[in-house]
Amino acid sequence: MLIQKAFKFRLFPTDEQAVLINKSIGCSRFVYNHFLDCWEKTYQQTGKGLTYNSCSKALTQLKVALPWLKEPDKFALQNSLKNLSHAYDRFFKKQARHPRFKSKRNPNQAYKTCFTNKNIEVADQSIKLPKLGWVRYARSRQVEGRLLSAFIRVVPSGKYFISLVAETEVKELPKTGKVVGIDLGLLDFMTLSTGEKITHPKFGCSMEQKLRREQRKLSHRYEGAKKRMLKQKNLTLMDCANYQKQKIKVAKLKEKISNRKTDFLHQWSTKLVKNHDQLVIEDLNVNGLLKNHRLAKAISEVSWAEFVRQLTYKAKWFGKEVIKIDRFFPSSQMCSVCGHRDGKKALYIREWTCPQCGAHHDRDVNAAINILNEGLKNPIGI
Ligand SMILES: [Zn+2]
Repeated sequence: MLIQKAFKFRLFPTDEQAVLINKSIGCSRFVYNHFLDCWEKTYQQTGKGLTYNSCSKALTQLKVALPWLKEPDKFALQNSLKNLSHAYDRFFKKQARHPRFKSKRNPNQAYKTCFTNKNIEVADQSIKLPKLGWVRYARSRQVEGRLLSAFIRVVPSGKYFISLVAETEVKELPKTGKVVGIDLGLLDFMTLSTGEKITHPKFGCSMEQKLRREQRKLSHRYEGAKKRMLKQKNLTLMDCANYQKQKIKVAKLKEKISNRKTDFLHQWSTKLVKNHDQLVIEDLNVNGLLKNHRLAKAISEVSWAEFVRQLTYKAKWFGKEVIKIDRFFPSSQMCSVCGHRDGKKALYIREWTCPQCGAHHDRDVNAAINILNEGLKNPIGI
């Protein structure tokens, strides 16, 4: 099967290249926000939105009026418009919230460029990119397949990254004849119907404590900087070196934690897909769950949604199947041996005995078995 795969590398632009990257990002954001505003105004006046084509024409005119828009990579601006038009499509299909203005403060600052006529080339030590020329990068693996596009981003710690998207061929993995039910949980990251429990990655606690400590330090330094700025009117936050230093320290720590989490999720999603032909999970309503403030932190921490996303695309790649079951299926209330419904159970009840058949259950293993059985009987989709 042909799939799109991203190859991510760290970039080491020169100062000049870095300025241009930041300009491309800034201009992409400007174009997105400008046309989002136009879209809304047109909609208010006429009851109809804009189209990608009408925006694209307007962009050509806008470039005449604002010549600095010609400086960055032209694909970046076009892709920004496409992005906006997709955001509206998803909104009208009720798949996403209303598009919002992009903020400079958003930690994900990126632009997308496209491959045409060899404008992107990958060599051993550098990558050729439109407008930027050859940019040095850290090559950690070989890029395979046909190049399609590239995302260039800068993260809060000030590092630059590139994700090269290429179309490449994946082969199905051999069938194992095994199926598994997966119960995603708060106490353990997940429990399998085989009885195996996968705990949260161990580093979490100490690293997160450290992060909280450094964040407190950051807010103290912010207060200090504010006082200094009151005394010296022409001072800006950029001049407060201690504050800036701490800000980067916090950003680096966040990056580290997030990288380790991603690694953990990738390891497990790959392993499960390799070892099973069918994987059954509950259809999570993550947006709904996040509204419950008590659970919110734990849930966002374990990133279930990301895990399910990985499982789903990897299953597709490797010829396996992810089966979802109704999220209201009472997986933790039912006895997996005799089917007796024992009613709702508070989160603190970890084990229970079925009054009907006397089977003793671990709450999560029992739920995972129920999920598996239900998935094989009443799947709601893949
Ligand atoms: Zn029972």
